Amino acid sequence: MKLSLSNGIFSKLSVDGNFAAVKQLGFENIEFNMKAVRKERDSDVYREQQAFAASGLNCLTLHSAILHVKSPIEVHKAVYYGKVSLECAHALGAPLMTVHSNVSKKLPLPIREKCMSEIFGEIKPFAKSLGIKLSLENLSYKSTGFGKNVEQLEEVLSVIDDGSMGITFDLCHALETKVVDSLLDKYGSQICNVHMANKSHAPFTEPKPELISFLIKLHGYEYSGPITLELDHKTTMQEIAKSKNLFDKLLKEF
Ligand SMILES: [Zn+2]
Repeated sequence: MKLSLSNGIFSKLSVDGNFAAVKQLGFENIEFNMKAVRKERDSDVYREQQAFAASGLNCLTLHSAILHVKSPIEVHKAVYYGKVSLECAHALGAPLMTVHSNVSKKLPLPIREKCMSEIFGEIKPFAKSLGIKLSLENLSYKSTGFGKNVEQLEEVLSVIDDGSMGITFDLCHALETKVVDSLLDKYGSQICNVHMANKSHAPFTEPKPELISFLIKLHGYEYSGPITLELDHKTTMQEIAKSKNLFDKLLKEF
């Protein structure tokens, strides 16, 4: 397993400052979160590409800009966010992009399915043409989006998956929604990214039993991908450093 940091936590900094903060903490790998880009504009990709190349970091994954559409009129905007994010993933050399269902949990079933089908009908072929794998994230019950448990994720996958979709396992969301074991049982072997945090995206700074049992199960599925620290933006540099320290030690065993 490879330790990585989501740079969404530094989204208030400039792109250069953002990468500098990641390096200052001693991380080598990042998940580039599109939150770090203030406005999703096509040509900004070149700015990110330049700053990233200068940083010497590895971009293991990219978190797409996301809109949980509340009406079919917003589908084109969700498609645009998805495609700009894919351009950025391509520019940074990320082989994998984390996505959500892109639909609001308040949409009724037939409209939800129609919107997902239209959005992913555009995003998937574009991702394929760039050689980027898509990975669906489980959401928290607190999220405005649809896709928090096995039942909901199965519905999403039945519309958007052609057998190539991976799973981004968000431990914070799964703990909050109390679905850690059911998600692992169903998707353990499809996981290709892990968003790592305790409830409320607080950092793990000690080897808590729920963390260790999760890592043991992941290891049982022969998982060797990113462990992406995805932390609340109020987390201090000291806390991030402490969490990194813990995972540097733990991941030697996994
Ligand atoms: Zn997440």
